[in-house]
Amino acid sequence: MTRDILSMNITELRSLMVELNQPAYRAEQIFEWLHRRGASQADSNGVRDFYVAPFARMDNLPKTLREILSQTCRITPCREVKKQVSKDGTVKYLFQMESLSDAGVFIESVLMEYEHGHTVCISTQAGCRMGCVFCASAVGGLARNLTAGEMCAQVYAAGRDTKRVSSVVLMGCGEPLDNFDAVMRFIELITHEKGANIGARHITLSTCGLVPKMRALAERKLQINLAVSLHGTTDEMRGSFMPIAKKYPINELIHACRYYIGLTNRRITFEYALTKGINDSLVQAKELADLLKGMLCHVNLIPINVTSTQFETKFSPTPRREAETFANVLIKNGIPSTIRRSLGCDIAAACGQLRSDFRM
Ligand code: SAH
Repeated sequence: MTRDILSMNITELRSLMVELNQPAYRAEQIFEWLHRRGASQADSNGVRDFYVAPFARMDNLPKTLREILSQTCRITPCREVKKQVSKDGTVKYLFQMESLSDAGVFIESVLMEYEHGHTVCISTQAGCRMGCVFCASAVGGLARNLTAGEMCAQVYAAGRDTKRVSSVVLMGCGEPLDNFDAVMRFIELITHEKGANIGARHITLSTCGLVPKMRALAERKLQINLAVSLHGTTDEMRGSFMPIAKKYPINELIHACRYYIGLTNRRITFEYALTKGINDSLVQAKELADLLKGMLCHVNLIPINVTSTQFETKFSPTPRREAETFANVLIKNGIPSTIRRSLGCDIAAACGQLRSDFRM
């Protein structure tokens, strides 16, 4: 059996060592190579990717073990097919993930620069089956789930273009909670002190609102940031944007959010894509404030980004001044709110634009 070693945690690597008649401490050495040393290395031949022949380079392991590993384990090569740099410095990557079971799916990741450091926005699925009407990632549906290792690989690949990745957002293609187990495993791996050691508080998971999974996530009591894509204040409004809203009504969603806050004591961010004439009236702002009243939360307003799919549906962003008025209504009613700066629009790397110019 070939193993997906980049997705394995230290406990599993220890069992693997037992199976291979090796001392258990080798597990830590291998984990460090895979998630720290290798992740930051570029080799002298200009082959930037450590993962092309990883085991040969693990020079603190006996040669026999390196050979056994290269025969029994595999890491999905994360091949950079295309890279685009925006005027604002945002970088968008098109990666090809060649897993054992398929010829390779294409996915996108984004590297963004903020005052406090670099953030990598990763995809959790190749495609998405949630079908939100304003989002380009939904076009074409779901190809397959990504593994935890494939999520790590995106962070490491983009990370090689910067000194340090300080945070990770699960806001690329896919619905993270629709790939729950792999995403939980990814968080375990990426936060591990022997690996990339990114603090849980520097990880943000965004969901369109899969209520049962949000409850399951709450029960894990992780210290990550949770973002919830709201985009409307009524079932009707949300449902016209997001099919999932028909499955989980807004009152159930808000209940799940309160449950999450109760168990984790973490503030939730609500994402609200302001769309001209659709969800941006001052009445809707007041409804939003009433809906979230008393909750430990923050509202992130994002003037909707135009994607090629919207040429048919004709959505356009709320102008800046009106967005500010909308934000002020929230603030006056006690709901902290900011208008999010959009990065990478010129290279279709902004929210909702991933996969829009996909077939190249
Ligand atoms: N599936 C998750 C993760 C995607 S995160 C989720 O739905 O939350 C991407 C964020 O961008 C989500 O809040 C999504 O609703 C939002 N988004 C999608 N298309 C957009 C667009 N065209 N303009 C602005 N935001 C958009």
